[in-house]
Amino acid sequence: MTQIDKSKPVMVTGANGYVASWIVKRLLDEGLTVHAAVRNPDDLNKVQHLIDAANNSKGEIKFFKADLLTPGAYTEAMQGCELVYHTASPFSTSVKDPQKELIDPALKGTENVLNSVNEVESVKRVVDTSSCAAIYTDAIDTVNAPGGVLTEDVWNTTSSLEYQPYSYSKTLAEQKAWEMNKKQDRWDLVTINMSLVLGPELNPKFTTSESANIMKMFGDGQMKMGAPKMGMGVVDVRDVAEAHFRAGFTPEAQGRYITSAHNTDFVALGAVLLPKYGDKFPLPKKALPKWLLMVFGPMVNKLFSRKFVRNNVNVPWNADNSKIKRELGMTFRPLKETMEDSFQMLIDQGAIKAK
Ligand code: NAP
Repeated sequence: MTQIDKSKPVMVTGANGYVASWIVKRLLDEGLTVHAAVRNPDDLNKVQHLIDAANNSKGEIKFFKADLLTPGAYTEAMQGCELVYHTASPFSTSVKDPQKELIDPALKGTENVLNSVNEVESVKRVVDTSSCAAIYTDAIDTVNAPGGVLTEDVWNTTSSLEYQPYSYSKTLAEQKAWEMNKKQDRWDLVTINMSLVLGPELNPKFTTSESANIMKMFGDGQMKMGAPKMGMGVVDVRDVAEAHFRAGFTPEAQGRYITSAHNTDFVALGAVLLPKYGDKFPLPKKALPKWLLMVFGPMVNKLFSRKFVRNNVNVPWNADNSKIKRELGMTFRPLKETMEDSFQMLIDQGAIKAK
């Protein structure tokens, strides 16, 4: 049982990111003081929305400059904090050097942040933003999981530096976090294991997250011939922020929490948008045949290797989200709200245009 004192500051790593920005807003709206660790506090394109969120809330924000690969970089920002949110980690599916661009910042970064946690006596709890990617790589892994369903007991054993390195980076980072947690007894660890996060960006200037890139594909014509029916989970970014908040402040919170609202696939996601946007945007209306993706997928996008298509297309995805509902009282927004709010934001920002 860990009681967090709300009069103490709370630290968030990578505070300007897509997911973290909503966590920061949730904390500020609660009247908390947030120690926001970012790579460049002077880049207003990346932090102005957080300053605005603070000005419109009961809370306060203080910025700190920190990079995951600089030893001790987070120690100053952590001073006096009982609760640390570690969200900073690169999320990208297209990298040239996975070791340098994904594994090192995820793994060495987690080690670095937790070394500081070990030094700073005030810290009682760390909430680590992990991922369902630390649980599975391909939809076929859910079929092969006990009972055909992903639970918090399942670990990703199928990703590697060569195959789905982002998933590998999240797996190694979360494993490192548990290993370091078990070596001491001052701070406890709670992990939020989200599926694909969709929903609007808090930063009105930026749609650079991988989540926004995926949403764009629905509206920019890339899927006008159809979408791959790839099983996946989806959750709203605002619900993800609420889950982080509850994971931090519920004394009994413990272990991993699958944070995924909907067991779905790309075709179903497109279908949700059709009634409102179908006549103006080239949304996918049908599933692309698996054989077609097997033949042409690898030529169009290097992510769509034969192995990836075989293990994901026309394969269902199922995760059990009952633990977070039961223990943290979470409820999730309907998919329609998440999809429409995401899509509308891209239209409003001019990132996708009506035909
Ligand atoms: P994002 O918008 O790209 O945010 C990533 C954050 O990490 C940014 O603040 C980024 O800072 C920071 N970062 C990256 N490399 C860094 C480094 N070397 N030093 C310091 N900071 C660094 O991505 P996101 O979607 O919000 O992801 C946030 C977390 O959620 C990640 O841990 C990700 O694995 C996890 N997650 C995301 C999803 C999803 O669907 N979006 C799903 C499951 C889990 P800069 O802005 O300076 O680059």
